[in-house]
Amino acid sequence: MARKVCLDSDACIACGFCYDSVPDVFGSDDEGTAFVANPDGADEASIQDAIDGCPAACIFWEET
Ligand code: SF4
Repeated sequence: MARKVCLDSDACIACGFCYDSVPDVFGSDDEGTAFVANPDGADEASIQDAIDGCPAACIFWEET
C-alpha cells in the first residue's frame, strides 16, 4: 500500500529539523512553521528520519 508523508502544522514548534535535514520535502513559512512542500521529494528512509527526529511528533505517514 502506498503512503504519503503528512504534517500537522498546528503542532509544529518550528525547530527547523525537518526542513533543514530534508529540504526537498519540507518547507517553512515566515515564522518557521513547517509544511510538506513535495511529498515525493526524497526517499522514504530520509522522510522516516525526519519523522523520527521531529520533537513535536507531528510528521506522520498517511496511507493512500
Ligand atoms: S521537525 Fe517537527 S517541530 Fe521541527 S520544524 Fe519540522 S515539523 Fe516542526
